[in-house]
Amino acid sequence: LQPKYVTRIEELGELSPDERIKLRTITGHYVFRINNYYRNLIDWDNPTDAIRRLIIPSESELQEYGSLDASEEIENYVAKGCQHKYKSTAVLLVSNVCGAYCRFCFRKRLFRNTDIHEASLDISEGLEYIREHREIDNVLLTGGDSLMLSTAKIADILQQLRQIPHVRIIRMGSKLPAFNPMRIYEDQALLARLKQYSGPESRIYVMSHFNHPRELTSEAYRAIEALQSSGVVMSNQTPLLRGVNDDPLVLSELLSKLSYAGVIPYYIFQNRPVAGNYGFVVPLQKAFQVIEEAKAITSGLGKRIRFVMSHSTGKIEVLAVEGDNIYLRYHQARDERNVGRFLAMHITSDAAWFDDLTN
Ligand code: SF4
Repeated sequence: LQPKYVTRIEELGELSPDERIKLRTITGHYVFRINNYYRNLIDWDNPTDAIRRLIIPSESELQEYGSLDASEEIENYVAKGCQHKYKSTAVLLVSNVCGAYCRFCFRKRLFRNTDIHEASLDISEGLEYIREHREIDNVLLTGGDSLMLSTAKIADILQQLRQIPHVRIIRMGSKLPAFNPMRIYEDQALLARLKQYSGPESRIYVMSHFNHPRELTSEAYRAIEALQSSGVVMSNQTPLLRGVNDDPLVLSELLSKLSYAGVIPYYIFQNRPVAGNYGFVVPLQKAFQVIEEAKAITSGLGKRIRFVMSHSTGKIEVLAVEGDNIYLRYHQARDERNVGRFLAMHITSDAAWFDDLTN
């Protein structure tokens, strides 16, 4: 039942011949990939359909905007494929493949054919670093999508991490619950390994990436339940994206559906100024308003999200926006002395990132 992949935009019969020619130029810049399951979630009669916007290239990607590494992740590498920015968290980039490619991805630089290979299947150096740093109690496996690895490879990584006593939490970043839920619930060997390595005092978390309520299909619920039955805790994070989830009704439906399924609504990210992402920009004032309105119409469990900017200096939470004032707090910081630091700054209606704000 595994879905078939399409990597050439020319093969998408749902697009007109003109569209296929135009979009081919874009896929030369930023890689394209979709599968039959996700393709069927698109309302092809609607050119601005939210799911379509998530996955089908658009001409706005060629508009000059941002940079490929907007959060300067390149500064965070401490070993091959291993980033260490916040004291207790290490990040292992274990995959440079995803179930499909989100047009708004902030790591799209990983999927380009260049000499720079930030992700690595060889995690030996990263594991050595983590072993030597006892302050690291949680490790995020990401990339790319960690669940795109073979089950044998995932089992090997989990087993090696579980041999490091100070690593208690293993987080697996994955959009497969949305892109290809069958990969999860059909793979009993994967579920057995997750169960083996997710214990009462040292859980595995799957950090899912549902962006829109229509991604929560019956198949997706089945994958969520399979993960939860294996002792995995699920949290969801999504950026706020223009034309996808920047509507309070859509966003509240997403938050509600996640909480119905027992998935913790964790972070809503301000979309980083990443090259190719111009079409998804929502200014901060509007983003805050949308999120507050969405929270007002979901239950307390749906309201658990934090609205944050993943800036090069740290994870900055947006606490409030009032007129031309914005109030922020460092939730995490590269410089530990900044953790918890409160900031009051000025904002303009078109400000869309921390660097657009003034003192
Ligand atoms: S699943 Fe995550 S890493 Fe992969 S393309 Fe989408 S946003 Fe990027």
